[in-house]
Amino acid sequence: MREGLHKIVSDDETIVAISTPVGHSGIGVIRVSGSECRNIVQRCFQSHSRNSIVQHRTVLIGVWRNSENEQLDEVVITFFEAPHSYSGEDVLEISAHGNPFVMRRVVESVCCAGARLAATGEFTLRAVAHGKMDLVQAEAVSEFIQIQTEQQAKVVLRQMDGSLSRQLRPIKESLVNVIAHLEAGIDFAEDDVDIPANAATSGALSRPREDLQTLINSFAYGRLLTHGLRLAILGRSNVGKSSLFNGLVSRDRAIVSDIPGTTRDVITETVSLDGVPLYLADTAGIRKTTDIVENIGMSRTLEEIADADFALVVLDGSEALNEDDRQVIAHVANVPHLVVVNKNDLPQAIDLKILNGASRLSVSAKTGKGMDELRTALSAFLLSQKSNLNDDVVLTTVRQYESVRKAEAGLEAAQKALGDGVPHEMVLLDLYEALSALNELTGEVVTDDILDRIFSKFCVGK
Ligand code: GDP
Repeated sequence: MREGLHKIVSDDETIVAISTPVGHSGIGVIRVSGSECRNIVQRCFQSHSRNSIVQHRTVLIGVWRNSENEQLDEVVITFFEAPHSYSGEDVLEISAHGNPFVMRRVVESVCCAGARLAATGEFTLRAVAHGKMDLVQAEAVSEFIQIQTEQQAKVVLRQMDGSLSRQLRPIKESLVNVIAHLEAGIDFAEDDVDIPANAATSGALSRPREDLQTLINSFAYGRLLTHGLRLAILGRSNVGKSSLFNGLVSRDRAIVSDIPGTTRDVITETVSLDGVPLYLADTAGIRKTTDIVENIGMSRTLEEIADADFALVVLDGSEALNEDDRQVIAHVANVPHLVVVNKNDLPQAIDLKILNGASRLSVSAKTGKGMDELRTALSAFLLSQKSNLNDDVVLTTVRQYESVRKAEAGLEAAQKALGDGVPHEMVLLDLYEALSALNELTGEVVTDDILDRIFSKFCVGK
């Protein structure tokens, strides 16, 4: 078993959980993992066929009974023998009828026969403990269950397949090589050991450092991919924000009216753009007002601006710019944004000189003219986040990002120390710190805190 996980995963405990969502469905799956699986089958299951031997990858149909010999359901059981299973232990999957009441009774009977209820993510934790996957892959499993778009699925599947871990391997190897050379130089200083010059040692760290930097850069896109892009639609009242929002969402969701200040709160909706979840926020119009409710709406708008990854500033092309428009433009100074001049189906009265060449688009939310260009402009923003990216491997969690940054910072410090002629004992400290950050990332070194961060996000039964 992997070091550090002994105290958390006990080999003599067998765990059970319902792995499918709670509710009524055609089939519901109950999963059992641990050394008691075979005994549990013997006690509770009676096969319909004569062949009732539970072997690796056998599927049997039969009756499930509790300790009082009451029939609970007719089930299909599948058995995977250790170590060739998801968790690396003996695993039994019981496919019962998807009735919550029946499934609970089956779980109770499994507990009576020697198992205990599983904690969140415990099947995957055991898979990590038995070396079936590393921590990055376990994290990907948890994300995979939550994802919403095809592009997310592609990236997360690659992580589940171990692509990030594979990318880290040569980096770690280079690091270990440099460490070994420096250690040898210190241990055998008196002997005739060839110690590489500082410049050469520092050079050997350049490539791994570049590779780490590429991974760090991938996080902007990885974060967008997993957390989505927060897009705020801003503008004074009545410029057409709600209409534009509806146009992007492609159905009538926000209330459209010509009475200023109708959208007093923030309405949100998620759509998929190029595989990235786009969280649209249709905000209350920004204008000077004494109305308390509208003021609350506006302070929410300001919060939304602060959280936004990107903003659309909507102006009414059929009217001259006024003070409220100028306020909106001033509010988004620090957020990447695009000016959308709406109502281009009407005669244009707006003077756009004030925009000083800021990127802008002319649309009509009413006729749909320019809406495709707007979607293309949003795609271009996403693409700009993706630039310089090795499409294969993307960091998707803050934990991964923090570890890789720590490792890169260690290499940077080591290179500087080598350049300054600092004693190698000190250089080694930086290198060990970098190595341990990478080991933490994949789980060679585990702490309770890291396990908590990862496995608390899982559902029970996975
Ligand atoms: P908001 O207050 O900024 O959310 O604006 P709304 O979306 O509620 O629209 C205000 C008014 O402008 C409504 O009467 C809409 O029908 C109208 N409107 C919105 N977009 C357009 C457009 O592109 N052209 C025209 N002619 N009217 C529009």
